[in-house]
Amino acid sequence: MIAVEEAQRIILASVDRIGWKYVELLDALGRVLAENVIAPEPIPPWDNAAMDGYALRSEDTCDASGDRPVALRLIGTAAAGQIFDGLVEKGQGLRIMTGAPLPRGADAVIRQEDTQATDREVFVVREVGPGQNVRSAGEDVKTGEEVLATGTLCRPGVIGLLAALGRRRVAVYQRPRVAILATGDELLRWDEAPTPGKIHNSNSYALAAQVLQAGGVPVLLGPVADTKKLLAEHLREGVRADLCVTSGGVSVGDYDLMVEILRELGAEVRVRKVNMRPGKPFTFALLGQKPVFALPGNPISCMVTFELFVRPALRKMQGYSDLFHPEIRVTAAQAIVNKDRRPAYLRVILTQTDAGYTARLTGDQGSAMLHSMAWADGLAFVPGETEIPAGGQLRILLLADEPAASPLGTR
Ligand code: AMP
Ligand code: MG
Repeated sequence: MIAVEEAQRIILASVDRIGWKYVELLDALGRVLAENVIAPEPIPPWDNAAMDGYALRSEDTCDASGDRPVALRLIGTAAAGQIFDGLVEKGQGLRIMTGAPLPRGADAVIRQEDTQATDREVFVVREVGPGQNVRSAGEDVKTGEEVLATGTLCRPGVIGLLAALGRRRVAVYQRPRVAILATGDELLRWDEAPTPGKIHNSNSYALAAQVLQAGGVPVLLGPVADTKKLLAEHLREGVRADLCVTSGGVSVGDYDLMVEILRELGAEVRVRKVNMRPGKPFTFALLGQKPVFALPGNPISCMVTFELFVRPALRKMQGYSDLFHPEIRVTAAQAIVNKDRRPAYLRVILTQTDAGYTARLTGDQGSAMLHSMAWADGLAFVPGETEIPAGGQLRILLLADEPAASPLGTR
């Protein structure tokens, strides 16, 4: 049985970035740039006022003070969005608003707070140096500069920068289409009424939500019964997507057929069982070059193995550089015991305190206990046969709160 890190290494070595496309600017939110962005124009485009005040020639303010104000003759007003055509000459001032282009002749702006004005004159009570309170052309971005590189995550600030450069569309990596196949004779289809012995199919929906959060586009298949013929048919359908995730049928029960069928279909099984709890039966294979993640059916094992193995692969396919959940260290709010020899990924609730975050378990950690994942802010990593006392340090993988991709959601 291999370690989680080794399984992750094998999986990431087996998947590649997929294609890219142009999307509307806002649809790039949460996605990764697939182009180097070169500035076609400078930001700001011209010298402009950084403050509301008066544009002037800085040499005119030499020695100005409260006792010895300098009087300048007012020649007009420059508002943002307008060009003042005139020239500011010696002894003159121009009323100017933040963002308005600096008029010819002027080399500085005096803040309104450092002046007193009448209709015709402005009295300057402080010296200003050349360039003071002026934002000079290109001080933020220069023409021809590579402002953003391929691989950049499009956060709101990046979207704003692209908009400032006049971009309406931008190249980003595509979102992988992920086929989700729930297996099990006991599963109801969403439109079926409950009957004895049957349960609702929760894994498909939890997985679809996880796929969305990881930036992928879920395609729901099944649920299908545990017969070889149906499973084989659906797996073939599943690998028409970019990636296929199945749940159930990978343990050692009589109807756990998944691995057998994958092999019969000619898949290359690259990971079979991982030293972890929950999720030991996790299996990863390539079927006709396509990655297939066969997750255990227990809802918690299914979700935890998705976060540890499928999500990083989906992120690599979309060009993200951070593939894994951020890891933080917090204080255990209670003693946490892992009696098992396998390392455990326990579901925890994080609470902010004056001394930083603390973590407590979400309750019973059985791998079929849906509530344990429903309340989880993170996964606590506890090595095998280890007890962490209350007040001890815990390693936590922070689960994501927001969708990675914009809900406008084109592929
Ligand atoms: P399996 O891995 O197929 O042996 O399933 C393990 C446990 O998970 C069983 O109790 C199943 O009923 C349950 N299970 C499997 N698939 C699902 C599903 N899609 N939704 C909810 N529970 C499931
Ligand atoms: Mg089953």
